[in-house]
Amino acid sequence: MALTADFLLSMWASGCERHPIDRALLLYAVAAPDSSTDELADRPLGERNSALLRLRQRLFGEELAGYCDCPHCGERLEFTLRCGDLLAPAASARPMGEVAGLSCRPPTSRDLAEIARLDDPEQAMRLLLQRCCGDQADADLAPAFEAALEEADPCADCSLELGCEACGQSAVVPFDIAHFLWEELAAQARRLLDEVHLLARAYGWSEAQILALPAVRRQAYLKRVLA
Ligand SMILES: [Zn+2]
Repeated sequence: MALTADFLLSMWASGCERHPIDRALLLYAVAAPDSSTDELADRPLGERNSALLRLRQRLFGEELAGYCDCPHCGERLEFTLRCGDLLAPAASARPMGEVAGLSCRPPTSRDLAEIARLDDPEQAMRLLLQRCCGDQADADLAPAFEAALEEADPCADCSLELGCEACGQSAVVPFDIAHFLWEELAAQARRLLDEVHLLARAYGWSEAQILALPAVRRQAYLKRVLA
């Protein structure tokens, strides 16, 4: 699967000014074209992440290389992952059921968008718990809710445990497939903009004409422009 040049650029343009939650929904809509954005906003985050991991497999393949800074010493930690390994726990996803006597459901993109408006993390957590477990839920429920969520919807939060050779400590770092995939697509869109820029300047063609060229021919002309 490859996205057409035109589609990639319009997606990038509509996503680059948006909140990361909305960007993730844009990607989710590419992964699940038969559902409306409204429906997708109400799906559990684990389902969203699984769909994005499968989209990543189709667009760029199985292997995924990234890096983050060690939270203990700041050393850059590089890692390589396989999408399939991150997807595996999704097979055991199931309804959340009751937590401390309250019937709960996993958080969705819409829940995240609602709590993103709040600056106070405690208030945000309370609102999230109330949305997912009902009005009686209070802040004390948070640890039990998080544990139950991890068991029921394991792809809701993909964290990686990495060892740091520089300081010898290990670190659990969050991995956000929506952010990762967005950055990969944004890099591809920027490369494409550079190509349009060079070809338009050299030949006077319009953006639409350049984007309509098959990739092989675009590359062949670029080679000549840059020769
Ligand atoms: Zn370290």
